[in-house]
Amino acid sequence: MILRRVIKHFRQQEWTAIFLDFLIVVVGVFVGLQVSNWNASRKDRTDEQLFIVRLHEDILLAESLTSRVRTRRIDRLTVLTEAANKIFARNQVKALNDKECRAVGAAHVYNIPLSDLPSLVELASSGRVSIIRDTKLRTALVALQQTKSALASFINLQGSGAVDLPSKYPDLLQLEAYFDVQMNEIRSRTKCNMDKMRASQAFLNDYSENIDSYDAFVRDGLAPWNLQFKQVHHLVDAALGVDHDSVDKP
Ligand SMILES: [Zn+2]
Repeated sequence: MILRRVIKHFRQQEWTAIFLDFLIVVVGVFVGLQVSNWNASRKDRTDEQLFIVRLHEDILLAESLTSRVRTRRIDRLTVLTEAANKIFARNQVKALNDKECRAVGAAHVYNIPLSDLPSLVELASSGRVSIIRDTKLRTALVALQQTKSALASFINLQGSGAVDLPSKYPDLLQLEAYFDVQMNEIRSRTKCNMDKMRASQAFLNDYSENIDSYDAFVRDGLAPWNLQFKQVHHLVDAALGVDHDSVDKP
């Protein structure tokens, strides 16, 4: 229709009419593009809000699944250090307490449920991470993925290299399984023979290797991931205006 009109105007050399036709086409295209941009932008804003709400739900679920093990693994480093001070006779104490003995027997256990945040995986796989306007949150989410990969490497590499002391030294450490009513799970009670531990250089060497490896696992793997997880939760809470009394601030 407009093309036929333009041809007619050309034949009759009506330059003003040609200019007006041209203007109508340009303005039409411009308005069309603008409407399309506005629609895409409005969809991005809606999707961003939905993503943050879903991300928060995923974080709460991941936290409920991992917080107990996370805290236990991080605390274990302190207990292992206290046990080392006693085993290597750096103080006057002659025996390990139950907690220290259990930690020594479990110093090769690194596993922790590293669940993904499904909303984040979905957003990243669709290439739409840029819909998150908060640059701090976007950066924190990337860092969370990086610290998670680093932690997974520590669990696979160092965890597989650590020595299972109760299996290698059954005369020095004995396990006894029991049901912990308070924790609602099966746990192991460990008995330690301090004199035999101190007398075995092989054990002392393996324990030294284990605690060194565990220290690296906590310091460079678990602690940074734990901190980053809290940071992301804090930023998501701020975006949603949520305030949990129970959640540690990073
Ligand atoms: Zn929250």
